[in-house]
Amino acid sequence: MKRFFMVCLSLISVGLTPAQNFPQFDKLFEDSTLRIDYIHSGNAVSEKFEIKKFIKHGIWSGSRKYLIDNFNNGTYYVKVYDSTSGAVIYSKGFDSYFKEYQTSRDAINGLSKSFEEVILIPFPKIPVKLAIEKTSTENITQKIYSIDINPVEINAGSLGVDHSNTLIIESHKGGEAHSKVDVVILGEGYTKEESTKFEKDIAHFTEIFFSLNPYKSMKEYFNIYGVLVPSQESGIDEPRANIYKNTSLDASFNALGSERYMLTESVHKVYDAASAVPFDAVYIMANHKRYGGGGIYNFYATFTSDTQFRDYIFLHEFGHSFAGLADEYYTSDVAYSDFYKPDREPTEANITALLNSKKLKWGELVEPSTPVPTPWNKAEFDSMDYAWQKQRAELNNEISEMKKNNAPPEEIKAAEENYDRLDKEQSERVDKYLKENEHYGKVGAFEGAGYMQFGLYRSMLDCIMFSKGVKPFCAVCQNAIRDVILHYSED
Ligand SMILES: [Zn+2]
Repeated sequence: MKRFFMVCLSLISVGLTPAQNFPQFDKLFEDSTLRIDYIHSGNAVSEKFEIKKFIKHGIWSGSRKYLIDNFNNGTYYVKVYDSTSGAVIYSKGFDSYFKEYQTSRDAINGLSKSFEEVILIPFPKIPVKLAIEKTSTENITQKIYSIDINPVEINAGSLGVDHSNTLIIESHKGGEAHSKVDVVILGEGYTKEESTKFEKDIAHFTEIFFSLNPYKSMKEYFNIYGVLVPSQESGIDEPRANIYKNTSLDASFNALGSERYMLTESVHKVYDAASAVPFDAVYIMANHKRYGGGGIYNFYATFTSDTQFRDYIFLHEFGHSFAGLADEYYTSDVAYSDFYKPDREPTEANITALLNSKKLKWGELVEPSTPVPTPWNKAEFDSMDYAWQKQRAELNNEISEMKKNNAPPEEIKAAEENYDRLDKEQSERVDKYLKENEHYGKVGAFEGAGYMQFGLYRSMLDCIMFSKGVKPFCAVCQNAIRDVILHYSED
């Protein structure tokens, strides 16, 4: 592992570019990034976009071969059109914190809120039209925003971010940025004095990343960086316990009112920090021992560094943010309601409404002897796991109350240890239940997925997108991740 500061960085990103030809890319784009900072605001029924600024910086770290995103993941798509010919010359799907906010009670009650977002595109050489399209839950896609961008008139400024106090670690080097998936792990809630812990954590999670397929067998397709902008205080916000910390990326538990959901609304600060290195995907590693995380497609993933399930959260959340995978679990409470409709086929690769059991979307992976839908001991599993979810919520509320009321630290510690023990026991019980099924380890269509107890199906009984623990991705998730890796790295 190498450690260095900003001065050296231009060497890694520029010096190694091989002399290859990408006629389409070279005709339309410069090897540089146009970053568009904007505000996405509204409530459940309205939304609008307001540009804050255009920034030109760095190289273009994405593929120069694949400029069109055909994954069909994400509610939103940014599309760049050649203003003269009208042809689409770049596209990318994404989701956002705002979209999740739209399903919350506040938004439904009409409260408008503003969220920071960022669009990154290769810097155009020609006048273009940039459009944002949105696909509704009824699967209707429409353009909801567009802007003409003439590269010589937009006055794209430089980034203007001082990285002299930023610690940069090159944790894994697969090769040159254009032809690799560049992953940046940003430290959040680490003080300058905790730099050594940050380095240790980066080394640990780099090792964990490559412990699971398909990452394990595709190690040379990746570059992994750690980037730390030190925080004034250690830890992050815990609103339910009335604890607030002054940190570099403003991450907080209790996003959208869900105790374990951890996000930040300061997305422009996140991308400022990430810009210290070439990057395609962003992780935020929060220095905290509580269970927490989140992952939004082509936006960012978060996880806490010291919880007992840290390795699981790290791998699971990246499945959302990098490959657009759906949650396969359904028993635990989530921040949003009515996320999927059982009469619509979800766009994510790893869950299905099974509207036609003869045309299962991962049908080629199912052995003829496996029935579809595939039976399993679901009723028994549900009653056992729902009971735990109820108990878990009660225990968490008790711990928050103790913190809020300044209970003695040893009492809080004992309550947290008790919670961790019970959580681990439940996780082991879940593993045991799943393994007892006849079709464990087979690909089929198992009911219960995507926060829906009934009507949505997953491909295998267990997967790291379904239950806690460091366990393999199911076959469908592995294939989906592999496709995304190839999209970024074939150059
Ligand atoms: Zn899966």
